[in-house]
Amino acid sequence: MPSKDAERYYLGQMRALVRAMATDLIASLEPALKRLKPDYIADSRVTLDGSWTDEILKSIRSVSQRFTSPLFEAQIQRVAATTISRADADNAEDFRDSINKAVGIDFQLVTKPKGMTDFLEASTAENVNLIKSIPADYFKKVETIVLGGMKDGLAPTTIAKQIQEETGVSARRAKLIARDQVSQLNSDLTRQRQTAAGIVHYKVQDADDVRVSGNPSGKYPNAKISCWGIARQDIGYGPGVYKVAEGATWKGVTNLHPGKHHPLCRCIGIAMIPGVNYFPDKNG
Ligand SMILES: [Zn+2]
Repeated sequence: MPSKDAERYYLGQMRALVRAMATDLIASLEPALKRLKPDYIADSRVTLDGSWTDEILKSIRSVSQRFTSPLFEAQIQRVAATTISRADADNAEDFRDSINKAVGIDFQLVTKPKGMTDFLEASTAENVNLIKSIPADYFKKVETIVLGGMKDGLAPTTIAKQIQEETGVSARRAKLIARDQVSQLNSDLTRQRQTAAGIVHYKVQDADDVRVSGNPSGKYPNAKISCWGIARQDIGYGPGVYKVAEGATWKGVTNLHPGKHHPLCRCIGIAMIPGVNYFPDKNG
């Protein structure tokens, strides 16, 4: 299971980021908008080159700069690294527990298989970029909203409302990133640990509820990628069993792994240990 601890931490940090962006922006923008209101409303339909444009842009950029500063970079680097190390710690423990429970003996597995450190660093960098995209997109959008709104002579309260809506968009995206990244990371880490432990096959188990994609009696029977179907089709190793190195193929999409069949897929891949929980009647 994706680490709840890592997800909770990541979500909390992302929520704080969105809150800080919006609070700083409103604090900086509100006085300028109110002060400029008579000008830009009288000025509407004139030109965008008015001095108020410069003033308002300066005010937005003074805030957006805080979210590209070296200090901010250092902060999100720490957020990404902490998330990933928590997710990894939980994954290592889960993996050991699941193998040991299946085998019935406590054998110590390598906690950091070869290549894992590089992988964790690459994931951290990827997450840093994803986090950075939140303020980058937000402030770009806000510039458009504010300049467009002023050009159309909208009241500051109307512009503020549009900014608020944009803040909501950022908040939803931030939440999706946090959930999806932790779940994808968990999927990748499990697969690396399975490979390092010499496990060749896994069995896909779906979340067994009405939200499972492709579940004929669930909410999404016509989903493009069917977790329900993947967990049941037999490509020669038994129902729902796939090679760790290859994953499943569904409707022409290859390399589909549990936890990553589609965004927020909740499937897991149970390690198949020959003679323990796997009795292949064919050569797999
Ligand atoms: Zn799935």
